[in-house]
Amino acid sequence: MKILIVEDELRLARNVAKALSEVGNFAVDIATDGEDGLHKARTNAYDAIVLDLMLPKVDGLTILKALRSEGHRTPVLVLTAKDSPDDVVAGLDLGSDDYLTKPFEMGELLARCRSLIRRSYDRPDPVLRVGGLQIDPRRRTVQHQGREHVLPAMEFRLLEYLAMRAGEVVSKEDILEHLYDFDAERFSNVIEVYVSSLRKRFGADLIRTLRGQGYSIGQEQP
Ligand code: CA
Repeated sequence: MKILIVEDELRLARNVAKALSEVGNFAVDIATDGEDGLHKARTNAYDAIVLDLMLPKVDGLTILKALRSEGHRTPVLVLTAKDSPDDVVAGLDLGSDDYLTKPFEMGELLARCRSLIRRSYDRPDPVLRVGGLQIDPRRRTVQHQGREHVLPAMEFRLLEYLAMRAGEVVSKEDILEHLYDFDAERFSNVIEVYVSSLRKRFGADLIRTLRGQGYSIGQEQP
């Protein structure tokens, strides 16, 4: 799962990025002005966007309006200043999905991001149940045949993403887009390494490979 932070206060942006990646296990991109934010949001596949409103070059509400009018459905959590309650209303009216007032607790931001992403994948249960596994993104654990597994970060990211899209065939390019930060080097063979490790842990049948198309987890497509 990958999140874009659009925030011009660099320290805050870095703190949010750190919490989202280290505690939340999200891939994270940062944009520190509105122009870059809009460009990144238009050209990358994000699972959620954390959007400040007061930004240099292009303000947050303009970004939101542009994305929604262009048909982007990515959930957007707006960050607003305490002294401007009108921004909350304006943001929601322009298509934001949630908001937080600064200053906020990092734990609350994380929980809200997870909740937005679950909703956008139509998975109201915080624990993903697929292929005999119970995958808990909050604790980064997997229950399998009565045992609890704690997975390495990237392996968990892959499993979580495939589980969110259970029953679908997900291409390697798509997986790479959602697992890695903007700056990360992308080697498509790493996906095969993670897949093979997940199969060793949870059984060879867990993830199906569809030649030339990608990977799939969960119920077979009819
Ligand atoms: Ca700002």
